[in-house]
Amino acid sequence: MSSSQPDLASLERAELETALEERGHKRFHARQIFQWIYRRGVTDVAAMTDLSRELRTSLADEFIVTTPQIVARERSTDGTEKFLLQLADGRQIESVFIPDTPSMTFCLSTQVGCAMACTFCLTGKMGLVRNLTAGEIAGQVRVLAGALDLRDRKFNIVLMGMGEPLHNYDETMRALRILNDEHGFAMSPRRMTLSTVGVLPALERMAREPIMPNLAISLHAPTDALRGQLVPLNKKYGVADIIAACRKFPLSKRSRITFEYVLLAGVNDSTEDARQLAKLLSGVKSKVNLIPLNAAPGIPFERPSDAAVDRFAQILAERGLVVSVRKSRGRDIRAACGQLIVEGQKRAPGRVLAAAIDENSR
Ligand code: SAH
Repeated sequence: MSSSQPDLASLERAELETALEERGHKRFHARQIFQWIYRRGVTDVAAMTDLSRELRTSLADEFIVTTPQIVARERSTDGTEKFLLQLADGRQIESVFIPDTPSMTFCLSTQVGCAMACTFCLTGKMGLVRNLTAGEIAGQVRVLAGALDLRDRKFNIVLMGMGEPLHNYDETMRALRILNDEHGFAMSPRRMTLSTVGVLPALERMAREPIMPNLAISLHAPTDALRGQLVPLNKKYGVADIIAACRKFPLSKRSRITFEYVLLAGVNDSTEDARQLAKLLSGVKSKVNLIPLNAAPGIPFERPSDAAVDRFAQILAERGLVVSVRKSRGRDIRAACGQLIVEGQKRAPGRVLAAAIDENSR
């Protein structure tokens, strides 16, 4: 693969128009190419039959099209499906399909591995291998929608698979613009949710984006003392700064910021933690999504009892917060939050940590 050949799957339509023009082609073919790739799932230029044979021959020389390949597919008893996908360089990622949240949701990865090293997350143990390209991020939607025959249906995406989306800002935002394109999937930003551990400069940049996904913040603790132990990035961007950025974040009338809170037994699940959390979020247009830990070997924490989860939720609800408890999906196939890890990046089907979500669906 040569860098002189742009990847058709990584270009926004406006970029594709320019690339076509630079090569002596008409700009309007970008629309046709988008329709083939995104609406019809065709990635072989030769099969794009409303383009002239001559144009197809040129395009095949001038561009590449990369598409993640399905290496393994596993179905949970709850209907969740985990896809192990192989990229052009042999690296592997996982994407998860969650069928009924109540809408259909694809949980996408934005990086191979992750640099954030949150102490309860398996993906964090991998470290960062590399960023995904926009084509690899949007490509997960193409592949899953094709494999599940959902190309013509409405679905949501959550950027909650492997990686920290705001640590791969440009490619993530480009992928969202590609998915939003009216000649492609035409996905509304309201069907997109970006989950971040709070990379503040990127969050502030996102507040000015034309295509703005729903925002979820992985908070996990109400104080710097506690959050610093769980989320290493907190030493750089602390709780007060994150909440201040959230208060300023432009939200449409009905929308709220989701605060994710992984519950770890005896660590961040006390009544005092709940009270402090309620206080911290008072006046913020928020909803809290409690995620009882998905335990795994090598993760030095335990999942709290259902009673402890209920008590925590109750305290928040009594203080006027909107609370939900995330159902753990696909745990039997290690597709649940914090369980996506592709080991060694070898060919062996990996175990990766994916996120399932039970909200932001309509
Ligand atoms: N990097 C982004 C998105 C990926 S993780 C972020 O941190 O927000 C999606 C969610 O799953 C995050 O809230 C993350 O903290 C949570 N998670 C990670 N490991 C988990 C585990 N073992 N059990 C439950 N949730 C976990």
